[in-house]
Amino acid sequence: SLKNPNEPEFLQAVLEVAETVIPFIEQNKKYQNQMLLERMVEADRIVMFRVAWIDDKGQTQVNRGYRIQMNSAIGPYKGGLRFHPTVNLSVLKFLAFEQTFKNSLTTLPMGGGKGGSDFDPKGKSDIEVMRFCQAFMTELSKHIGADTDVPAGDIGVGAREVGYMFGQYKKIRNEFTGVLTGKGISFGGSLIRPEATGYGTVYFAQSMLATKGDSLRDKIVVVSGSGNVAQYAVEKATQLGAKVVTLSDSNGYIYDADGIDAEKLAHVMYLKNELRSRISDYVEKYPDAKYIAGEKPWSVKCDIALPCATQNELDAKDAKTLVNNGCFCVAEGANMPSTYEAVVVFHDAKILFAPGKASNAGGVATSGLEMSQNSLRLSWTSEEVDEKLKQIMLNIHAACVQYGADGNGYVDYVKGANIAGFVKVADAMLAQGVV
Ligand code: NDP
Repeated sequence: SLKNPNEPEFLQAVLEVAETVIPFIEQNKKYQNQMLLERMVEADRIVMFRVAWIDDKGQTQVNRGYRIQMNSAIGPYKGGLRFHPTVNLSVLKFLAFEQTFKNSLTTLPMGGGKGGSDFDPKGKSDIEVMRFCQAFMTELSKHIGADTDVPAGDIGVGAREVGYMFGQYKKIRNEFTGVLTGKGISFGGSLIRPEATGYGTVYFAQSMLATKGDSLRDKIVVVSGSGNVAQYAVEKATQLGAKVVTLSDSNGYIYDADGIDAEKLAHVMYLKNELRSRISDYVEKYPDAKYIAGEKPWSVKCDIALPCATQNELDAKDAKTLVNNGCFCVAEGANMPSTYEAVVVFHDAKILFAPGKASNAGGVATSGLEMSQNSLRLSWTSEEVDEKLKQIMLNIHAACVQYGADGNGYVDYVKGANIAGFVKVADAMLAQGVV
């Protein structure tokens, strides 16, 4: 913490990994005295830059851009770009650090990275978003490349922003390469990429439930967020027979006791993706549902919780409420949505708990599949990509069980994911020497 003052999120992510990986290193001679974890917490490099752009009033605006190139032991840096006013060095370093382990878990050759800006797309016109994306990419293009560093979307960065950034990269570099993932289908995007994080999270929950001989059928599910990950988590959970009763955004949540079925979800997608409005508008069309302003959905009674909004959105008090209400399975769609103390509550209660770096890895895995398709210059069908995604999620689940099972039928998925992720990166670093 002396080296990284004022970086609470980064320290939180490192603590969680260190707690499980250090005991493993102590039991395995090959990983000792190599400063492996010490090297992994230090980014290969961090680029910070000014993004100046002109708004619709002709006024110059200044934001800060970042790219954290964390670790390239097993492949080119890979990780999303986040545009949100809360973006700072601590948040992006925690995300880049977690990404290194997550990408390792996917079994695909991708290193860890993350980036973004404190730019707030909310309330900006389409043209303002385009001007910002172009200004951001003008600098970022100097540091990335299809074989070096391949960013993707994250909070505030969806198909629209990726498209604008891809256009600017192509203009500056005069090359059509797979430098970004999450692209539109007409210019190299992969089918199932938009769905992949949400679907993958539900596939992971399915695998956890299967260890207890259970499934999603007839389960009550609480989802937070209403963006990309949340929307497709609702879709897949519903397809598998569950009833999803909540969605949220940073202003509050909606509770629909009848369940958010396919038709209602289509309306949510229209509200959020087309109109770019708030989840509170849901109750205008579905007045039987309730909108609860200023609150998170964790007090709603459920069997399964899927936090899909943002980091530290679920604290120890929320975790206790969930457990006391009978929730027995939590799979993180977002990155680090549960606080350190909340995870302790889930572990003490011995419920099924999957950390984001395992359960939300389907997004980056499918980005990896998009990179493969771009290199091969061909496109796989939805069925092919979905099948590969399912298999990858099964493999990640198996890796977590391999390193996280305690022998008495309980699986610590945090421990399992951290150690499985560590081993592959550490082996590559050892083989490549001290560089
Ligand atoms: P979106 O921008 O599509 O949606 C984000 C959602 O979370 C919105 O509903 C937003 O509400 C809410 N949210 C964002 N910040 C806050 C905040 N500070 N407090 C409360 N709510 C907030 O992003 P994604 O769905 O892509 O990402 C959601 C999470 O999933 C993130 O943690 C991301 O890192 C993670 N993730 C995403 C992947 C992807 O493929 N997209 C891959 C792996 C992980 P509002 O509109 O009010 O801001």
